[in-house]
Amino acid sequence: MIVVVVLACPSWCVVHRGPDPDEPGHGGAHYGHELSVPIEEIVEVGVEVRIFVQMNAHDMDGQRHTVIDLVDPHGYNAELTVAEARAVADILVRGADLWSVTPLTAGVCPPWCVSHTSPDVVDIDDAIIHRSEPMTVVASGPTLSGFPIEVEMCVLDREDGRELDLVVSLGGTRTGVTSAEACKIAAHLLSAADLVATDRV
Ligand SMILES: [Zn+2]
Ligand SMILES: [Zn+2]
Repeated sequence: MIVVVVLACPSWCVVHRGPDPDEPGHGGAHYGHELSVPIEEIVEVGVEVRIFVQMNAHDMDGQRHTVIDLVDPHGYNAELTVAEARAVADILVRGADLWSVTPLTAGVCPPWCVSHTSPDVVDIDDAIIHRSEPMTVVASGPTLSGFPIEVEMCVLDREDGRELDLVVSLGGTRTGVTSAEACKIAAHLLSAADLVATDRV
């Protein structure tokens, strides 16, 4: 006889799936709210104009496995532990700090710059790109283990001025966000981490 252990819902559960009879040991799944941050810069058709954070838990053989999902506009998601979610929040805030110390005048090398392209004397439209040292957190999974989340500050100097971009990459897919957007994503990650950390089965 198969006994299905059903655990109590976590406090944040808003969408609930009962035990899957086709999967031995499956005790149900719980999903939290989608904590969205609208991303202004997205103009691509078919790409969501937001990044969101969502908690989810799968119960298996009486054990709960909880992850914090970070989902980018292209639908790529990183499955984070509490510690990893806090580490990603930290690099987002550090990225926002780099943004705040960036001179707005084109041509001035920002203090955080570790590499920049050389001005192309032939093509005057060519932008000069300044980049910060990339900051990386590796998500442990479970389904996408080893998935890198990277935050990098980028500045584009063109004839008509300077453009600032805080680039968030999930598994290599790059999304440009503002410092305010990065801080909002960080806040969602931290509140999700707090909720998961205080959850006891
Ligand atoms: Zn539930
Ligand atoms: Zn530079």
